[in-house]
Amino acid sequence: MDLGIEGKRALVCASSKGLGRGCAEALAEAGVGLVMNARGSDALEAAADEIRAAHGVDVTTVAADITSDDGREKVLAACGTIDILVNNAGGPPPGMWHDWERDDFISALDANMLTPIALIKALVPDMMERGWGRVVNITSQSVRAPIGVLGLSNAARTGLTGYVAGTSRQVASTGVTINNLLPGIHATDRADSLDGGVAKAEGISLEEARARREATIPVRRYGTPQEFGAACAFLCSQHAGFIVGQNFLLDGGATNLTV
Ligand code: NAP
Repeated sequence: MDLGIEGKRALVCASSKGLGRGCAEALAEAGVGLVMNARGSDALEAAADEIRAAHGVDVTTVAADITSDDGREKVLAACGTIDILVNNAGGPPPGMWHDWERDDFISALDANMLTPIALIKALVPDMMERGWGRVVNITSQSVRAPIGVLGLSNAARTGLTGYVAGTSRQVASTGVTINNLLPGIHATDRADSLDGGVAKAEGISLEEARARREATIPVRRYGTPQEFGAACAFLCSQHAGFIVGQNFLLDGGATNLTV
């Protein structure tokens, strides 16, 4: 399917690895030029080189912490005209509900709620003026069904979801859509780190922790960054102009819900 977005330009935050990388790759395959971002420059430059070589699109890289004011300023300064914004950042650490103090919540809110909101506020007005734009926020399955040990994530991401629900409907008449993708478990470094925590707590190997988790997923495997990226690219396509303020679970059926 021709996604109809060749020649557009996207900012994909936190995209040297994992789900962000999957989104960058799928957009590049559709002919979209990229601004890619991550904190570490080695993996970022390597990912950008691979994407340029595979898809022949223009890729600008900005090594910066997207959750900091300075980092966002650096990224926005390198952006130029942006048609597509993919919001992403690392997820908060796991823990117990009674361990988190105010500062822990402020960090999680900064990373997973206020950063995407700041980027929406910075980039959407220009999209509205030009009459077309796409925003996809990478949130989490935890928005639909809470994950106890990820209370910081549950809290911050539902805050973003509430903001998007209202805002997406306020801007939709201008041709700009805002939607959320909710990953369940995907095979990335983040999954290894979460499984590593389980393995340590339960005295089992990483492989065993993963196998136990896979057994709880109807498709019996983890998702891939490629599958995730393809869903993101579709939401950014010309065909998705009637999809507004939605939350799409990509979880292999793991969240036991009727709607
Ligand atoms: P990942 O494999 O650990 O990759 C994270 C990417 O983001 C890396 O490129 C990393 O590069 C970059 N990054 C992290 N923090 C950043 C920051 N502050 N500023 C700029 N770049 C940053 O993670 P992932 O699995 O793709 O997860 C992406 C998001 O989805 C996370 O918020 C995660 O919590 C959420 N999620 C993931 C899953 C899953 O199963 N994978 C499930 C539910 C939700 P640097 O480290 O060099 O900055």
